[in-house]
Amino acid sequence: MSTMIDDRRTLHLRPETGFCEIETAAYIYERLESLMDPSAGDSITTGDDVIDTAAIPGLTQAQLDAAAARALEHGTPKELVEKFSNGRTGIVAEIKGNRPGPVMGLRTDIDGLGVTESDSESHVPTAKGFVSELVGVMHACGHDGHISVALELVKRLTENRDFPGSFRIIFQPAEEGVRGAMVTKASATDGVDIMLGMHLGLSLKVGEVGAGTHGQLATEKTQIDFTGAQAHAAMAPEQGRNALLAACSTALTLHSLPQRADANTRLNVGVLNAGSGLNIIANHATMNVEYRSDTREVLADLKKRVAAVVAGNAQAYGVESEITPLGQATTLLCDQPVIDKCVKAAEGVAGLEKCEDTVLFAASDDVSIFIERVQDNGGEGTFLVVGCSSPGPHHSATFDIDERALPIAADWIENIARS
Ligand SMILES: [Zn+2]
Ligand SMILES: [Zn+2]
Repeated sequence: MSTMIDDRRTLHLRPETGFCEIETAAYIYERLESLMDPSAGDSITTGDDVIDTAAIPGLTQAQLDAAAARALEHGTPKELVEKFSNGRTGIVAEIKGNRPGPVMGLRTDIDGLGVTESDSESHVPTAKGFVSELVGVMHACGHDGHISVALELVKRLTENRDFPGSFRIIFQPAEEGVRGAMVTKASATDGVDIMLGMHLGLSLKVGEVGAGTHGQLATEKTQIDFTGAQAHAAMAPEQGRNALLAACSTALTLHSLPQRADANTRLNVGVLNAGSGLNIIANHATMNVEYRSDTREVLADLKKRVAAVVAGNAQAYGVESEITPLGQATTLLCDQPVIDKCVKAAEGVAGLEKCEDTVLFAASDDVSIFIERVQDNGGEGTFLVVGCSSPGPHHSATFDIDERALPIAADWIENIARS
């Protein structure tokens, strides 16, 4: 069995959700240590140098501690559990080529999802004995395949350094929920001239690839909290400050914001919880809101308007408000010169039958943040898609990778890196 398939199956057994990818990061790190050569200029960066842990959204210390305990119990070396605990699961690895040239970056997302994997014998990982060992968690988006391809690229590029500049892989936690890129420090992409993302799947068949994508919406996902004052609802309502009403009024007003003639927009208040008893003025309300747009300018404007609606309603009801970011992605504009380079590099790749310039990607991926950072610094980028003929949709119990897609992805990206 090839190392790539072996890696993919090993990783598939132990999927971990965002910021809890300790076993996964340890697996990647041990392999990088064995392949990379600091005396040749290679470097591995981890921990607080990669992730801004103060900004990690939505996880409790208890969840982070449970992830560390689970990794330890499964035999991950203690020093590696410590290295990657508390949400510090990002790794940046850079390999030096033996010719001058640009820095090329590749984002590799490493997290699984809260999905229970199919136990049907028609599901290949179940039939072949590498179904997830962790009930309720699954690599249901192909990120196990992404890691195996990235490790293969490290092997090939360290064995044969005949490529220009350097090749930097950002192993990114928590792509699901678009949480990981926004807390990855800018140093991960600083100096990158060409930034690539790669995703397996998206309903493409094995042998079909896309050198770019279109159709991604920029998005912000937030939690909004209102804090007021409790009071008896009959005896002293005037002493209360009603967080529930502030939240309800906010929800209604927010839904009036997306009406625009100049852009495609969405907004959804998906969760609203408030109050503690029917005869008590509610002193707390919390809501989860996401909004999207196909232009970053309109998204920035929506963000300002959301903040104004929240502040205005808080003032009207005499309560405090707080907005906490939960996730973020921006629009993804792929650069034609990079697309052209990738189309050319697809020539001659075994098993690669069809390369489109661009394919529709009707979801969000926070690799867009890395690509935007690089573009803002004068660089370029694109998002590659490699078909894998999954029998089930992404994020479903029957998602699977036809493993013939893995060498296609590795050969293609190797060609891009060497061109
Ligand atoms: Zn996904
Ligand atoms: Zn994914």
